[in-house]
Amino acid sequence: MQQSSIFTHIINGEIPCHKIYEDDKALAFLTINPVADGHTLVVPKVQVDQLWDLEVADYEHLWKTAQKIALHLRTVMNVDRVGVVVKGFEVPHAHIHLIPVNFHSGLSFDPDPPPPTADNDTLAAIAERIRL
Ligand code: 5GP
Repeated sequence: MQQSSIFTHIINGEIPCHKIYEDDKALAFLTINPVADGHTLVVPKVQVDQLWDLEVADYEHLWKTAQKIALHLRTVMNVDRVGVVVKGFEVPHAHIHLIPVNFHSGLSFDPDPPPPTADNDTLAAIAERIRL
């Protein structure tokens, strides 16, 4: 049997998160290592490692959900753009990174020093501001 990913534990409520949005197929929450305020992960509830291997209905639903959240983030975080990144080198459970940005380097995942784990109260305040 497949071992549950950290995101499956979050989806099951076994690990806490700062939730932004939830429906029957997807969950969105703040990453603990944001490269920008409001850096959100949009995750399918089904545990599949790579985004490209999702069933078409789950794949389409995830991107529709990402669009809804990105439009909301752009307004609420008052930014020019919301960047999108798909990588998955750390957590083998498909997810879309949404990153509110005003400048090109805001999308960098290799800042020096790397982004620290965010303060829980700060994340809670941001989640409160952007929750759908
Ligand atoms: P990737 O797999 O695309 O390289 O990145 C995984 C993302 O998940 C990173 O932004 C990382 O900080 C985030 N992440 C890893 N573990 C947790 C966790 O337990 N809770 C939350 N909220 N985010 C996590």
